[in-house]
Amino acid sequence: MRPLVSVRNLWFNTFVGSAALRACSNFIAGQFTESATATFVTDDPSTGQPLCTAPVSTAEESKQAVVSARAAFEDGAWSRTTPASRASVLVALAEAMESRFSELEADLVADTGCTIRVTSMLQVGGALAHLRDFAEMAPLLAAPQAFPISELNGFGQSEVYREPHGVVAAFTPYNFPLLVLIWKVAPALLAGNTVVVKPSPLTPLGAQAFAEACQTAGLPPGVVNVVHGDAAVGQALAADPGVDLITFTGSTAVGVALMKTAAATTKPVLLEMGGKSPSILLDDADVELATRGTLFACMLNSGQVCAGTTRMLVPRRLYRDVCDLLKERVAPMKVGPADSEESDVGPLISQAHRDRVLAHITGAVQQGATLATGGTIPEGLPPGYYVEPTVLVDVDPRMPVAQEEIFGPVLSVIPYDSVGDAVRIANGTRYGLAASVWSSDLSRARDVARRVQSGTVWINDFGVADVTRTPFGGRKQSGLGAEFGVEGLFAYTQPKSVYTALDVDVDKRGYSVVSLGWD
Ligand code: NAD
Repeated sequence: MRPLVSVRNLWFNTFVGSAALRACSNFIAGQFTESATATFVTDDPSTGQPLCTAPVSTAEESKQAVVSARAAFEDGAWSRTTPASRASVLVALAEAMESRFSELEADLVADTGCTIRVTSMLQVGGALAHLRDFAEMAPLLAAPQAFPISELNGFGQSEVYREPHGVVAAFTPYNFPLLVLIWKVAPALLAGNTVVVKPSPLTPLGAQAFAEACQTAGLPPGVVNVVHGDAAVGQALAADPGVDLITFTGSTAVGVALMKTAAATTKPVLLEMGGKSPSILLDDADVELATRGTLFACMLNSGQVCAGTTRMLVPRRLYRDVCDLLKERVAPMKVGPADSEESDVGPLISQAHRDRVLAHITGAVQQGATLATGGTIPEGLPPGYYVEPTVLVDVDPRMPVAQEEIFGPVLSVIPYDSVGDAVRIANGTRYGLAASVWSSDLSRARDVARRVQSGTVWINDFGVADVTRTPFGGRKQSGLGAEFGVEGLFAYTQPKSVYTALDVDVDKRGYSVVSLGWD
């Protein structure tokens, strides 16, 4: 029997051999392969029950995946096809997954603890829509950018080709495992790269489903590979000289570690990392809209959303009324198992993470914040990892709860005295991922939006992602580079300038100014 290592709770070892467990495998060179070494077990965060097994891959297995991706890239059957034909494969992938929509939905609900309504709309629905959206971007890669003959180049033609990097290593987080995988793999494939995916060991089922779709859609072997496992295999993959680009979504600490590893072989890195996004309520805002929008953004996926607005900045004059309204709006939120249509807020990913979130709440109260609502484990639920939606008021912006990413259903409400003060507080963390500004005066809201140090600002809304047109990325320690839009697609390419002389008259050449002794 293979050794079994649990990522969450060691007592899962008692479930060795349980027929009920789903099995994930590595996907290398178009084949699902058993792990040569150990297997870990994940659990369903709604119940704490064991859910699936996946390999603890070794550095050798990572190497095999990179070799497979390299061979597929060099072969040219993928990298030198047209962008239009690669786009049709993205559509085929969407169709393959759509044909199993309900199964996929159920798997991801159990895998992540994200409620079924959100999983259906965002995780599965969003993944399929975004695959198709990326496919529509193929014309951007169809032809080189040609520059008109100018005085500068006189009698030649300059063109810029967008070429794939080669082998892309894609690291994905636990919170939206399929959606984030698509955000990376779809543009990488469209640009002609081949890919090795390293999913989070907490939620391996999304990558498994994607690998199965690759087989169904007939992707050439080696174009997409999946290697499951922990940080050790992640480091082996990042260090592999056969990898040409790292694309990572996850915590800032791990992003920094990957950047250091990548430096040894000068690999470019795209980093999408943590956030502490502010929701700035201006004094002329529609307060009802703003409180609903902010609570939605904060409690979505139990607060396990990178861009979730977790700090609400409120003019001091409106502060008590807004705090009361927030409390009122949280009261009917129903916490419960993710597979129930009734549940608004599901569990957190693990017991360890729940303990971290509860410790943040306790710490904030010890430091002087007031618990307006929530803050504990709700009663009467199955033994999953639930935390009540929590609103903390009287929060000082310097408190850890207002500085650190908590990744739980916890909103900190902070008063401010002037718009300048609000902007200063908004910008006063190491993060800069996203923000919302709420105001009935759009030019005022845009002015504040321009002053906030974040990659994305939503005015009177939250979470709009226009994949094909607008970039999404973090400032400061929230990220490096951007996903989506032309910038996001081109990040998976490298430019090549090709200059073609169109006139053979040697006297017109720049080097004719130096005779080198010729006649
Ligand atoms: P994480 O950083 O723990 O893990 C992300 C990935 O990196 C996983 O595949 C993990 O196995 C791997 N990994 C972990 N340690 C590693 C190491 N030392 N070397 C190589 N690989 C390693 O992140 P998480 O807890 O899974 O996800 C939550 C984080 O992701 C939050 O910080 C959240 O803000 C962030 N996130 C950001 C975005 C964004 O677009 N900016 C989107 C979603 C999530």
